[in-house]
Parts: sequence; structure tokens; C-alpha cells
Amino acid sequence: MKYYSTNKQSPVVDFREATISGQAPDKGLYFPESIPSVDQELIRNIEKYSNEEIAFRVIHPYVANSIADEKLMEIVTETISFPIPLVPVNESVYSLELFHGPTLAFKDVGARFMSRCLGYFVKMGETLRHGQAGGSGQTVTVLVATSGDTGGAVANGFYNVEGVEVIILYPSGKVSPVQEKQLTTLGKNIRALEVLGSFDDCQQMVKNAFADKEVNKNRFLTSANSINVARWLPQQFYYFFAYKQWPDRNNPPVISVPSGNFGNICAGLLAKRSGLPVEHFIAACNVNDVVPEFMKTERFEPKQAIPTLSNAMDVGNPSNFVRILEIFAHSFTTLEQNLTAVSITDKETTDTISDAFKQYNYILDPHGAVGYLALKRYMGAHPGSKGIFLETAHPVKFPDAVEKHTGTRPDIPASVYNIMNNKKVTVKMKPDYKALKDYLMS
Ligand SMILES: *Cc1c(COP(=O)(O)O)cnc(C)c1O
Repeated sequence: MKYYSTNKQSPVVDFREATISGQAPDKGLYFPESIPSVDQELIRNIEKYSNEEIAFRVIHPYVANSIADEKLMEIVTETISFPIPLVPVNESVYSLELFHGPTLAFKDVGARFMSRCLGYFVKMGETLRHGQAGGSGQTVTVLVATSGDTGGAVANGFYNVEGVEVIILYPSGKVSPVQEKQLTTLGKNIRALEVLGSFDDCQQMVKNAFADKEVNKNRFLTSANSINVARWLPQQFYYFFAYKQWPDRNNPPVISVPSGNFGNICAGLLAKRSGLPVEHFIAACNVNDVVPEFMKTERFEPKQAIPTLSNAMDVGNPSNFVRILEIFAHSFTTLEQNLTAVSITDKETTDTISDAFKQYNYILDPHGAVGYLALKRYMGAHPGSKGIFLETAHPVKFPDAVEKHTGTRPDIPASVYNIMNNKKVTVKMKPDYKALKDYLMS
């Protein structure tokens, strides 16, 4: 598979190069030259296939020629080594629980797949950029800014991956205690920089580093954010796993996806375009409503992000939306047939957490609650439909909101319980680029 840049000003590349460079030189996003069709036999008999086989067959056309089949199977198997259950909430609504991975967020799937692909390319001495071959033995530095979930998933995914050093910038005092432990206690090839500033400061510092020629001469820098194809594409897997567990084959599900940067739902739309039966997609947003507004007005107007309870979705300029337009060849009519976008307030979110617990004894996290309510609204307007919402984070990550609106405190899973006793190790840093540069040059 070859990938072109959505800005169309950069050369096409293969999967390996798209993974290594992250973003295209013209600042566009890489997109596959053609969308493969999944074998309809796989769809008809999906319950007969293991998750590993399904994932392998879905990703194979995107990766073939860059990674040998046997190695790809190994990567896929390690990526999905935790349960992804479809849990009934009531007779017509199901929760696809994506929070059973090591950092309790759906980002584990993409981060684990990407880290293993990059680790493989580094090991093969195939880190090639700007015509420079990096011989084997070269290290790659993954530099990433996080407001919470991304950092943990990336740290965990890359932990112990040979040849890859990870440097995570996070705003001091602005991530939750669980999230901070996930970032700062691993050690080895994972370093945490505790920036005495905001998330925007962290992001700006990272951007400056990528643009700094001197730093790039000294280190082979790459990013691990959600625009990387190796993080984006494997997110298709769990839409297939959801269908495998879906009880009504004659009546495909409506799927509601809590959305921020729109990478996750974009993977779902790609899976549908490849032949996965899905009745309709719902982009469930909080008050950061750039896409819901677009679906009304056909005008894409980025805004300043507004802080909400579902903070992983506080995105004012969702970068993956351009890929969604690409999937539908920029036809608004086709897009509308496949996608509805809904905006939900914090008050509606907490009312939903409370209602779902009272009615069905199901504990939602704030992100899942946005997905659940958006689905319920859609089903209200389309009687007879049945659906799935994606539960993207474990409720324990938001214990205060959950306790306040359900009266129960979610149980802490063993994986989290253990890290809470580990020692935090960080390098404190002023929110200025010079400090980061000194660190990277030393
Ligand atoms: C990142 C994240 C989202 C948003 O996913 P996108 O792919 O950016 O749309 C939703 N929920 C949680 C818990 C997240 O961590």
C-alpha cells in the first residue's frame, strides 16, 4: 500500500516511511491510495475467526511489503492481548468496552501497534528519512506532549522497545493522579518531563523541537500522536470485534463514538467503507462542536478548545476530520448518509451517568456517557434501531465525577493499584523551548 498526503504536495510513501515520519512534509496527513475490501466470507462467518486472525486480515493490505506476515501476526497478537467485550446495557444498547488494556483507555490498541511497528523498523535499521539511512543501532526518540491519556498509552506501549527512547511532556499538576503515575513510574526507556505550564506550552515546545534543524541533526525525532497511520489504522480492529459479538446479524448496529480528534471514528468509517456492516455512525462530541456545526453548515471552523468533564475530547480543531472527508471523496451527501454528529453538555453528561446507573446499574465514564446519550437520541428519532456506544475510558480514571453521580466509587483494577505505589520520577522543566532544547542536545 502506498500513502499520499492529504495536502497533495509531498511524494507518496509506503507504510514504513509513513509510520516513521508521522506527518507528511507538506503538513498533510497520510492516507491510503486505495481502500481495500474485506473478504465477505470473513464477515459472514466472523464468529468462527479468532480476534488475531480478524485483525491480521484487516491490517494486512495496509502493511504488506513493509512487514513480513509472520512478524505482522506477532505484532497484532501482542497488540490485542486483552479482552474487548460487547456488554449489553439494555435490550437495544450495547457498550463496547475498550478500557481493559494496560492503561485503561482505547488508545492502548493504537499505541501498542505503532510501538511494535516502529521498534521493528528501528531494529531492521530501516529508519530512513530525508534520504539518510540510519544504520542499525541507531536510536529513535519519540517526543510527545500529553494532556493525560495519550502519554500513558504511549509510555506503556513503547516500554522496553529496543532502540526507541520516549520523552513525554506533561503539564505539572494538570493530569489526574492515575495518569501521572502511568507516565512517570516506568523508567528504562521512558522519560517524563514535568512542565511547569499548560498543555498548550507542552505542545508548543514539542512543535518547536520538530522544526529545529540542530536538534534533528543530533537526534532522530518522531511523534506518536494520533495522526500517525500506525496508530490510526489498527483502531479498525475493534469495530470488527464488535460485529463478531453483535447478536442480530440481519440488523447491523448504529455505532456511537465519543470523539475529539476524530481518529477513532475515522477508523470505524474506514472499516465500514471496507465492507463491515454498520447501519450508521454517530460522532458524539462534548461542547467542542466543530464537527456537529460542520454537519449543519458545511463550514469547518476551528475554535479554541473549551475544557469539559470529558477532557480527552476537548479538541477545537480535530485533525483527523480531513481523513473522513477523504474517505467519502469530499461528497457531503455521502458523508451525511453515513454520519450524524451530536454535541452534549457537561450537565447532560452527568445526568446520563446518573440515569444509566439508576436504570441499568451500568457505570459510565464521562466520555462513554457522551457516546451513550448521543446514541439514545439518535435511536429516539429512528425507532427500531439498535446500537453500540464505545466506552473509551475506564470509570476509575474519573472517580470523583463517577462517585458524585452514581453514589459508588468504581473499583480500582489491579494494574492501577500496583502503580499507585511506584515512585514518580520526572525532570521538572520551565515552559520554555530553550530548556527542552538543552535537554535534547545533552
Ligand atoms: C482520545 C480519547 C477520545 C477521543 O478519541 P479521538 O480519536 O481523538 O476522537 C475519547 N475518549 C477517550 C477516553 C480518549 O482518551
